[in-house]
Amino acid sequence: MYAGIFVRKIPWLLLIFFVLGIVFIALSCIVYLWISLLFTKAAPVACPNCRRPTKILGRVDACMYCKEPLTLGPELEGKAFDEKHNTRRNQRENAQTSNSHAHRSK
Ligand SMILES: [Zn+2]
Repeated sequence: MYAGIFVRKIPWLLLIFFVLGIVFIALSCIVYLWISLLFTKAAPVACPNCRRPTKILGRVDACMYCKEPLTLGPELEGKAFDEKHNTRRNQRENAQTSNSHAHRSK
């Protein structure tokens, strides 16, 4: 009640609180929309390394299972890794896993 009288005596203070509230709500709405937009933009892809379905957030992201770098940009894809590089990497990793398996079985 005292605060009500205080605020009524100073209307611009009420206006400032009102504007601050509106701005806060608008900001949270914008952030929420932005995040939801990011998640809907996440492209579902099959990881070329581990063959599991993952999502790319933005233009470049890593596989959520094996941390394989993935990209949506065609020009980046050409530079970062092509099909040959992927298969070579797969072969190397397969060799490593089979080696570690051999070590374990000893
Ligand atoms: Zn993967």
